Amino acid sequence: MDFKPTNGEEIFACRQCGDCCKGFGGTYVTAQDIGRISAYIGFDRDRFPIRYCEKSGSRYVLACGKDGYCIFFDREKQCTIHPVKPYMCKAWPFIEAVIRHPENWNMMANSCPGMKKDVPEKTLKKIIGSEKEKLHPPEK
Ligand code: SF4
Ligand code: SF4
Repeated sequence: MDFKPTNGEEIFACRQCGDCCKGFGGTYVTAQDIGRISAYIGFDRDRFPIRYCEKSGSRYVLACGKDGYCIFFDREKQCTIHPVKPYMCKAWPFIEAVIRHPENWNMMANSCPGMKKDVPEKTLKKIIGSEKEKLHPPEK
C-alpha cells in the first residue's frame, strides 16, 4: 500500500539518540537566541558568545564540549536548554531547505533515525509547510 502521511508525526518521531547534537558547525544562533538562552541560564548576554559560541564565518554557532557534543547537551537530560533552544533545533527536520530541495530529506534521514524515508515529494513539502507554520504562525 502507498505511504500517504498527512502530518509531521507520521514521518518524524525523535528517538532521543542525541546524534544531531554532535559535531561542530550546525547550530547557528541569532541575537534573539542569545538573549533567550542567556536569560534562561542566568548568564550575561554580552559575554555569552565568548563563553558558549564559536565563529562560523561571520555568524555564531553553539560551541561543542570536549566530547564533541553541543555545549548544552547532557547524556541523561539531552538538551538542557530545551524550552529556548535555537530555531534550527526546534524546527528539525522540518526545515526550509527541504522545501527547496526535497531530496535532502532522505540524506538527512541517513543520520537521523527518527525520520522516515521515501516520503512522496508533494506530501513532504505540504507537511513541512504546515509544521513551519506551527513555529512561525502567520500574523493576524
Ligand atoms: S538525530 Fe534525530 S532521532 Fe536522534 S536526537 Fe536528533 S532528531 Fe532525534
Ligand atoms: S541546543 Fe540543544 S538541541 Fe540544539 S544542538 Fe544543543 S543540545 Fe542539541
